[in-house]
Amino acid sequence: SLSPLALARAKDVEAKWRGTSTSGGYTLNYVDGQFVKSNSAKWLDVIDPSTQALLSRVPETTPSEFDAAVANAQAAFPAWRETSLLGRQQVMFKLQALLREHMDDIANSIVLEQGKTFADAKGDVLRGLQVVEVACGITSTLMEDRMEVSKDMDTHARKEPLGVVASICPFNFPAMIGLWTIPMATVTGNTMILKPSERVPGASMIIAELCERAGMPKGVLNVVNGAVDTVNAICDDPRIKAISFVGSDRAGAHIYHRGTQNGKRVQANLGAKNHCILMPDANKNFALNSIAGAAFGAAGQRCMALSVVIAVGEAQQWIPELVERAKQLKVSGGFEEGSDLGPVISPQARKRVIELTGSVESEGGQILLDGRDYVCPEYPNGNFVGPSIVEATPGMQAYDQEIFGPTLVVVKADSLEQGIEIINKNRYGNGSAIFTTNGATARKFEKNVGAGQLGINVPVPVPLPMFAWSGNKGSVMGDIGFYGKSGLNFFTQLKTVTTLWRSQDAALSEKASVNMPTMS
Ligand code: NAD
Repeated sequence: SLSPLALARAKDVEAKWRGTSTSGGYTLNYVDGQFVKSNSAKWLDVIDPSTQALLSRVPETTPSEFDAAVANAQAAFPAWRETSLLGRQQVMFKLQALLREHMDDIANSIVLEQGKTFADAKGDVLRGLQVVEVACGITSTLMEDRMEVSKDMDTHARKEPLGVVASICPFNFPAMIGLWTIPMATVTGNTMILKPSERVPGASMIIAELCERAGMPKGVLNVVNGAVDTVNAICDDPRIKAISFVGSDRAGAHIYHRGTQNGKRVQANLGAKNHCILMPDANKNFALNSIAGAAFGAAGQRCMALSVVIAVGEAQQWIPELVERAKQLKVSGGFEEGSDLGPVISPQARKRVIELTGSVESEGGQILLDGRDYVCPEYPNGNFVGPSIVEATPGMQAYDQEIFGPTLVVVKADSLEQGIEIINKNRYGNGSAIFTTNGATARKFEKNVGAGQLGINVPVPVPLPMFAWSGNKGSVMGDIGFYGKSGLNFFTQLKTVTTLWRSQDAALSEKASVNMPTMS
């Protein structure tokens, strides 16, 4: 059962929010402005990763329920599209205030279902809220170009909504990732289908209720719960014009191919292996604290977690100190005072972390800090693993695979150039960082590293949402990034209009012109 600390918050969440359950009941769907229980015969358990207590059951939405949700989103589209931009902007202003007001409730739901610490869960909400804040500026950002291109002739651009769009989310950021798309998709005039991760549906249900309170009309946002079957229904439904996906490589490749083959626009953010280069001229204290925080925060379950540190030259001597810092981190339930990292999402995830961490022993690497046997005294049944630090090289499983847990891989390098080469040979390209006090070194790193989101003395360089998410290489499929200007482009179709308004008495050509204009 839940810990006493969690129980009070769980009751509070369930009592306040219509679509959620935290006591073994049912997560509802949100369709046509109603929270409704699915008639599905197939239900999936939502489990507290700290205790294995059953929090909720999530339906695999039935085909007819799914059809009704899409029909509803489609029916809501014409009126929403006709709602003035200022009207849609007002909804964003209200949503912004409501998300801030109810941040703690959303964070409570995240801690219960996902396991991260309460402070970190609030960050999860905040980073989504910031996308809403950028969407509030839509009246400036959607302003388009206009130009007189010839005598009496003007061209202007319009960005028009696509229609019904969909968003498919992972478990690791239950609030942020839904909020990567809801504001940008709806403020531009689309209606949408959101499919939360079946492991963490609560935050999405609360956000849906807040969208309703913010004045979003019925049908503009619909939340359908489920797993693979619901995802495939999204990929196959011809009424859905675009899919935004965030999650693993396997699911992402499947959705990208199936969605694009069905003629949809698809953006997919996938797995990662984010490296940092630790230079011997770095500020040691700052760098080691930054690396420990970025490697082990959220139990390593961030797509921008630092999972590899390349220690260059004499910086290799600092690794024992990094180990000491990692040892100081408190691993416990997310509501516990002073807890630095919580459990990983499932027993299977824990097993995978333990196996990949241990794999270095038979592959010629070394375990420098071993968190595999950690048992949390307060939560003996939870999916806890302690921080681990392993030394490995490319070609070993612990280096090659995304561990998605609190295991940091140390790779040794002789020079900056060798470090850059290692990063560039890695198949992923979400993010990368360097710790140095030398501007020329930083510049060389910036220019030559192929990953898409770089940090110079910044360990988790996720750009704020006025910029776009810019992961690249194997960490993405599709060409247009999330939020920022890219988000606007993803959720709109560019149209250009060229007009000729010439007064009647002006000389008009007497003969049809068949040549391309030469603009002379
Ligand atoms: P996941 O792929 O298991 O699940 C993501 C979504 O896909 C869920 O909604 C799930 O229902 C669906 N899904 C899962 N398997 C499927 C299948 N076989 N067919 C169709 N749909 C399927 O991912 P996860 O474990 O929830 O999330 C962790 C992964 O997400 C990590 O790899 C992490 O790096 C990645 N991630 C990437 C970013 C980024 O921006 N690059 C951000 C967050 C998470």
